Amino acid sequence: MFQSLAARHGVVVRDRTEVISIKKEAASGPVQVLTASGEVFCGKKVIITAGAWTRKLVGSVSGIELPIEPVHTLICYWKIREGLEEELTAAGGFPTFASYGDPYIYGTPCMEYPNLIKIAMHGGIPCDPDRRDWQVGSRAAASANEPDANALVGPVAQWVSKFMPSHIDASNGPVMTQGCMYSMTPDGDFVIDFLGGEFGKDVVVAGGFSGHGFKMGPAVGKILAELAVLGEAEVPDGVDMGIFSIVRFKSNPRGNVKEHAAQVSLHKT
Ligand SMILES: Cc1cc2nc3c(=O)[nH]c(=O)nc-3n(C[C@H](O)[C@H](O)[C@H](O)COP(=O)(O)OP(=O)(O)OC[C@H]3O[C@@H](n4cnc5c(N)ncnc54)[C@H](O)[C@@H]3O)c2cc1C
Repeated sequence: MFQSLAARHGVVVRDRTEVISIKKEAASGPVQVLTASGEVFCGKKVIITAGAWTRKLVGSVSGIELPIEPVHTLICYWKIREGLEEELTAAGGFPTFASYGDPYIYGTPCMEYPNLIKIAMHGGIPCDPDRRDWQVGSRAAASANEPDANALVGPVAQWVSKFMPSHIDASNGPVMTQGCMYSMTPDGDFVIDFLGGEFGKDVVVAGGFSGHGFKMGPAVGKILAELAVLGEAEVPDGVDMGIFSIVRFKSNPRGNVKEHAAQVSLHKT
């Protein structure tokens, strides 16, 4: 939907086009973007939004090490017991919910697959986005040396058995899983900033959406456009863009100080 709206406003979407380098040859010159197929795009400004690849791409073009950790996570779909399907739909009044704790479980009625409900763990297993083990988190452990083997399904099955046994039989696991990636910052807050250095204000980066970036897409998009075009974001009084800055990790590697720790379950191998 967002892509077609953008296209209606004149945006050209180039899918399957990997950016491998971003550089500036002269301080006052354009920013050059080089793709894996050898194309070069030039622009006054560039905005980098590479999701789980942000740390790799920003690191390779600027040397800046952003603390954005790619994390493999899993969406699980569970079969609702026969006769109770209507109760767990949005039309039946069933809500989207979050069960804070360790593990942190969330769920939502499912529009895309009738008779199933989506319940999963908010968090995951750190990974290399280019060399991902797509099965980890959802397979039986071959030995005790594989603590992550079932780490993304096992705790969800336990939670479902404990809190929703009358509605879902979790004993055979989810009927379907889908792999996905989070890009986590240490504080769970986004990175939205100019890259600085040789790029000054000509390259803007937005990443580290830490599993809660989608709903902010329109607001973040507006901020990014303003940073690129105007050099500053036109945010309401009292909104401190400093909480999204790169520099916050210099004074504190954990980032923004919180009353509560970031609520996400990270499995470290
Ligand atoms: C299971 C799951 C559930 C979620 N639930 C919610 C939710 O309920 N609410 C919510 O608000 N958010 C949710 N999120 C988080 C949300 O999806 C992300 O925060 C958001 O998509 C991040 O946007 P992004 O643009 O940073 O990254 P992405 O959406 O990942 O987009 C990055 C894009 O950059 C491309 N790319 C990477 N490297 C390059 C390169 N070198 N050259 C060109 N392109 C490149 C990638 O292919 C990708 O298309 C969820 C995420 C997951 C995985």
